[in-house]
Amino acid sequence: MLRAESLVAGYLGAPVLHEVSLSVAAGEVFCLLGANGAGKSTIARALAGILAPRSGTVTVNDLDVTGYPPNRRVRAGLSLVPESRHLFGRSTVRDNLLLGGYTRSRTGRAETFDRVLNLFPQLGALLGRRARDLSGGEQQMVAIGRALMADPAFLILDEPSLGLAPIYVDVILEQAAGLAERGVGVLLIEQNVGKALAVGHRGAVVEAGRIVLTGPAAELRTDPTVVDSYLGGVA
Ligand code: ATP
Repeated sequence: MLRAESLVAGYLGAPVLHEVSLSVAAGEVFCLLGANGAGKSTIARALAGILAPRSGTVTVNDLDVTGYPPNRRVRAGLSLVPESRHLFGRSTVRDNLLLGGYTRSRTGRAETFDRVLNLFPQLGALLGRRARDLSGGEQQMVAIGRALMADPAFLILDEPSLGLAPIYVDVILEQAAGLAERGVGVLLIEQNVGKALAVGHRGAVVEAGRIVLTGPAAELRTDPTVVDSYLGGVA
């Protein structure tokens, strides 16, 4: 389990997150829904250790990682693919991927590298290209692949399909579901709420920094608030 308990966090001034608690199990896609500015990315940052919480705890398989910086959380099994991807633009696709596995043994890294290329076969032909010369969808595959190189137990995907052509959105969401099938716990923040809930197992709605609803994806898909606010009134 990846677990947040009563997280209070924010930037300067008043906190953005108020007592946020959630848990993501191994092997599930957990969808975090909410309007722009609700606090979804702030939850992702607090979980990944980019933002220190003012109170509350984060645990990864019962290990308390609340005081850990991001790199130690990666070693503990938690990786984040941030909304803005943060690739090394002048480095090649190969180097971006390998950097993601810097904590691993040489053999582990080589095995996962092959697995990432199986997952995203399009990247095979692009390994020598500079990351900044790829399309948005290709860059997102590299960003996810780089996070996978750490062999995470839990993966946070913050708006992985932002700015992507519909065909890539489907590819990315299918891959998220495939990772869960292999036992990874995926926290998915996604604007395409209908598509996210179609691949998700459970989810939660964030409003003004609070979790206001949690439940199985099938129930969220027909919940009147979710339908009205995030599915354009169509269940
Ligand atoms: P979106 O869907 O638009 O990405 P979100 O649900 O991910 O929104 P957050 O990015 O977590 O929302 O933002 C929550 C609140 O925190 C907003 O009021 C936002 O303005 C504020 N905020 C986000 N990042 C920062 C920052 N670096 N410094 C100060 N305030 C911030």
